[in-house]
Amino acid sequence: MRIVVLAGGIGGARFLRGLKAAAPEADVTVIGNTGDDIHLFGLKVCPDLDTVMYTLGGGINEEQGWGRADETFHVKEELNAYGVGPDWFGLGDRDFATHIVRTQMLEAGYPLSAVTEALCDRWKPGVRLIPMSDDRVETHVAVTLEDGERRAVHFQEYWVRLRASVPAEAIVPVGAEQSKPAPGVLEAIAGADVILFPPSNPVVSVGTILAVPGIREAIAEAGVPVVGLSPIVGDAPVRGMADKVLAAVGVEATAAAVAEHYGSGLLDGWLVDTVDAGTVERVEAAGIRCRAVPLMMTDLDATAAMAREALALAEEVREA
Ligand code: GDP
Ligand code: CA
Repeated sequence: MRIVVLAGGIGGARFLRGLKAAAPEADVTVIGNTGDDIHLFGLKVCPDLDTVMYTLGGGINEEQGWGRADETFHVKEELNAYGVGPDWFGLGDRDFATHIVRTQMLEAGYPLSAVTEALCDRWKPGVRLIPMSDDRVETHVAVTLEDGERRAVHFQEYWVRLRASVPAEAIVPVGAEQSKPAPGVLEAIAGADVILFPPSNPVVSVGTILAVPGIREAIAEAGVPVVGLSPIVGDAPVRGMADKVLAAVGVEATAAAVAEHYGSGLLDGWLVDTVDAGTVERVEAAGIRCRAVPLMMTDLDATAAMAREALALAEEVREA
């Protein structure tokens, strides 16, 4: 079975670990979000690609959900001693090596997709990880700062430095309109048996991937079941600040509203948590087959069970 997954960082990566356990024989292609990418200290950092790679490759900091295990921060401290920032972005010493290798390869002329493949040669994530695009796309957030100044900030600055403390007024995937899907993306979608949206952020993770021209259309036209899992449980994101970016696009932070936001033109099936069982009817009224099952990725077994439910719902859709 060929499965395509559109993934952000933590939510996507943890789900993928469950999917691999649930379907060890499956051929999984992950289309990764690169809208969070940022240049720091002259280096290209791809937080979501790295979270997927480290999580599946066994190098992740488990508690944090991002960054390397057994990390130290000497380089960051030395940079700070020189007064060189930003100091709000946590880059550890081990992590730095990844960004150095990536930047060196990009500067030598390799596209990001080839660089990602090379990095994965080391980590062996057990999936094919492709960035959504080789072109630069950067998610910016329009905000009004506390002093009344209106500004567009990089998504990382909004999320990490400002901790989403001011309302997001607009989310703009800068460069998306001119970007092209990376080599292999459209082919993977066209060749998929099932397409899954993990419980990743619907706006700044899955939404950004869908903003690359051609990807949304390819999914809608693939003619295979498309099933998603809600990142919103009990009217709040399980972790993070997805409610802030949902508000910016006019979508309430509920499992049903997120399903409606994707819409029946894209989604065939949607899983909500058992605490949201009351919304199943609303989702089905929108033309999306819906089931309520436990959706908390507390451990590998629970996550694998979620993946099995998603695949079962896909089969139901296929047979309907
Ligand atoms: P990010 O790029 O690191 O923010 O990661 P993603 O976009 O892939 O996933 C973020 C989303 O994962 C958040 O909106 C969370 O609500 C969701 N999430 C995290 N843990 C869980 C969980 O255990 N269950 C569900 N249903 N969603 C989760
Ligand atoms: Ca992210």
